[in-house]
Amino acid sequence: MIVLGIESTAHTFGIAIFDGKKVRSNIKDVYKTLQGGLIPREMANHHIEVCYELLERALKESELKLKDIDVVSYSASPGIGHSLRIGLLFAKIISEKIKVPLVPVNHCIAHLEVGKYFSEFENPLLLYASGANTQIIAFNNGRYRVFGETLDTGIGNFLDSLGYLLGFGFPGGPKIYEESLKAQNFIKLPYSVKGMDVSFSGILTYIRTRLLNDPSVTKADICYSIQETVYSMLLEVTERAIAHTGIKELVLGGGVAMNKRLQEMSKKLCEDLNIKYFCPEGQYLMDNAGMIAILGYKMYKSGIKMDAKHAYMDPYERTDDVDVTWK
Ligand code: AMP
Ligand code: MG
Repeated sequence: MIVLGIESTAHTFGIAIFDGKKVRSNIKDVYKTLQGGLIPREMANHHIEVCYELLERALKESELKLKDIDVVSYSASPGIGHSLRIGLLFAKIISEKIKVPLVPVNHCIAHLEVGKYFSEFENPLLLYASGANTQIIAFNNGRYRVFGETLDTGIGNFLDSLGYLLGFGFPGGPKIYEESLKAQNFIKLPYSVKGMDVSFSGILTYIRTRLLNDPSVTKADICYSIQETVYSMLLEVTERAIAHTGIKELVLGGGVAMNKRLQEMSKKLCEDLNIKYFCPEGQYLMDNAGMIAILGYKMYKSGIKMDAKHAYMDPYERTDDVDVTWK
């Protein structure tokens, strides 16, 4: 069985093809701006412009024709409405054209399931750290539950905002890492863990109002201190979720999990707790259609499918809104 996956929750438009054993292609095109943030209407235009070309490339790379596809899965939630709508429409067009069913996939759950698929872990906890999302997720009683999350911005958006303040351009995360390697000092920053949740906006305000105008503080020291502080916050909550659930496997997901320091700290936590650790390769950490195809395959096998007429999207669907009937 061949599944075509479509990702379009935000800046990334992706197409992937999964045959049940192998991801035959996993390609994407990311909407970028030279200056300023993401403009939803322009992002939607970007996705419209690239969708057919990406489909052709994905088929060619997989050595398949459109008629070989058996199922189309697409990221139906959560995300930016403008972007989700293009993915939904493209999924409907393909489904109608070749008369195959659709499978709607929750993007956050796909991040967890792709880690599970490649690690072959039974029941992992996911530390999901991406641009817009920051959540600690684990399965409990029929659903993936959110054990902790950000109360304001996603950690990636926070790093990007900090990068913007430091004059690094977008995306800020990788540049903050590079700069952190030159640091000399650790600066104590606000540490914002509230119960099982974290928040970032106060830290950004602190840096803007207290540190940026201080000539004795270097960018490198800010970058180093930020990483140590916010990744410790994430791992404190992760550790507590592990203690609470008794789960013995941790997987990372989301673009911020590309960060070597976060990976190192997560691995160390797992060694200290004597539990298993897995971080998927980069193409499956950032937003990608591969994870949508892999989860779509699993959901379809369990009997989940939809015709084009009933297909939907939902910008606000939460991880724990979804009944996990495919496990
Ligand atoms: P996603 O939303 O999952 O596609 O991830 C995008 C986010 O990942 C952006 O906010 C980037 O700044 C962040 N990111 C990418 N690479 C790194 C890195 N090496 N360190 C920290 N953040 C990163
Ligand atoms: Mg994501």
